[in-house]
Amino acid sequence: MSPENEAPELALIAKGLRTISKETTYQGLAEALLREALSYSAADRGGILLSEGNELLARADASFPRERASFFTSSPAASEFRLPPDLDDAVLRRQETVTRRTCRQMSALMGTAEPSPQVITQLCLPLVHHEWTIGVLYLESTREEAFTPRCVRVMSMLASQAAVSLESVRLFEALRETNMWMVRGQEIGRMGSYRWNTRTLLSRASRECYRIFDIDLEVNPVPFEVFKSRIYPDDIPALDQALTRAVSTKSPFSHEYRVVHRDGTVLNVMAEGQFDHGPGGDVELEGIITDVTGRRAAERALADARHELARAVRLASLGELAGSIVHEISQPLTGITMSAEACLRWLARDSPDSSEARQSAMRVIEQGRRAHDVVDGLKSLVRGAQLNFTAVDINEAIEEVLLLSKRELERAGVTLHAEFGKSLPQVRADRVQLQQVVFNLVRNAVEAMVDVEGRSRVLTARSSMSDNHVVVAIADTGMGVDRANRERLFDALYTTKGNGLGLGLSICRRIVAVHGGRLWVEENMTHGSTFAFILPVCQAMQMLGPN
Ligand code: ADP
Repeated sequence: MSPENEAPELALIAKGLRTISKETTYQGLAEALLREALSYSAADRGGILLSEGNELLARADASFPRERASFFTSSPAASEFRLPPDLDDAVLRRQETVTRRTCRQMSALMGTAEPSPQVITQLCLPLVHHEWTIGVLYLESTREEAFTPRCVRVMSMLASQAAVSLESVRLFEALRETNMWMVRGQEIGRMGSYRWNTRTLLSRASRECYRIFDIDLEVNPVPFEVFKSRIYPDDIPALDQALTRAVSTKSPFSHEYRVVHRDGTVLNVMAEGQFDHGPGGDVELEGIITDVTGRRAAERALADARHELARAVRLASLGELAGSIVHEISQPLTGITMSAEACLRWLARDSPDSSEARQSAMRVIEQGRRAHDVVDGLKSLVRGAQLNFTAVDINEAIEEVLLLSKRELERAGVTLHAEFGKSLPQVRADRVQLQQVVFNLVRNAVEAMVDVEGRSRVLTARSSMSDNHVVVAIADTGMGVDRANRERLFDALYTTKGNGLGLGLSICRRIVAVHGGRLWVEENMTHGSTFAFILPVCQAMQMLGPN
């Protein structure tokens, strides 16, 4: 070939090689190789048989293409591909390239319109990958000089490029499969992964994150504003705070918040992450977002059931208590009435019998004493004859209650602030009873904030030390208490709630009093009220210190 023809030809070969190397599927690769081979050579027909990965192509037989070879393509389309046994042996086993002139019956392509000449020229090349014959390129022409040595060399180059590309296809397929697993896994686990650049504030995220945040897939990377526009407005301040704290300390990040979709659907999500340096050197937060909506709904249902149960138990024990009071007291009361009536009768006689009247009056006193004893017995029972005093770390006890109330707070959209005094001495108390007090105050605070709109619902739990007393305060930003009724709140059976019992605060006050303390309520400067109680610190414990 003259040099002026060589340059366009080289460009053609280069284009062919590039086309083959771009393929990312086995079928595409086989088709591209055949197309390039046919367009470069003078072949009339051709076919390619290819096996997947490193599988050895045992026999070049595409009569059952799915069993023998993974991919078969031919042009024009043939129904069968069957290499004659001698070619099969030379090309597939010995990996030789064969060019030959032979009779039409020796063609490997069957079921196509047969060429009229009785003699054909064949070129058959093995596709070798890692020393295995994984495919065969077969070309056929009616022209005698169709496959010149130069043409054979170019075909070999295309075949080697195809074998190299096969490796990329294999890796690509593996990657695609892994990616598919990951996407499916994330879908099933309702968990997406993300990387957030703390300098550019842009995020890259997996498909599941897009679903969780209801963001269109075209938004990539995701600007912080788009992400933030999906956060439940009340949860933004706490999230901002958690992110700022995590970014400044580079400590592991973990925060739960709510997401609002464009159609108003609200999801509970848990975000977790760790900081590291991204490819550009920027600090990035890498982590996962889990949609915990279902889990939270189940927890809420469980909490509701518990709440209902606790209420039922409270009502039942109240009923029991009332029953026993009625039973114990009614007897002496009947006795008193009867004796008093008898006394009157003795006195109303024409000649009053003072001795009988006195006896009746004595019985009135006796029965009165019995009634008094019954009441005393009940009092000591209610006051806590079963109290179990131990050394209690007040902060720990409050924290436990807050942890138990976490779901209730979240559900009511209440943000929790804990301001615990450090190194507080222990108090001598019945831990369970004390926790019941805190639990009641927290529940009342939450209920007081239910109807609050237009300002944040914040519950602050404080503990501190003042004059040998530990002070505990539960403050809310709720509706506050009516000054006129302030003291009535602590009366038994006083309630302003439709389903309230009005016993909580009276029981709390009694429990605190049994501990030698005091419980009261104060109005807050801005909104809501603060219920606080003090407990005396046991001297011995004070000397021993907080532990
Ligand atoms: P209940 O909660 O069953 O009504 P309580 O004795 O605990 O019984 O409370 C009595 C009443 O005190 C409540 O009905 C409510 O009116 C008022 N109250 C209690 N806590 C608060 C609070 N944090 N803010 C405003 N009012 C409160």
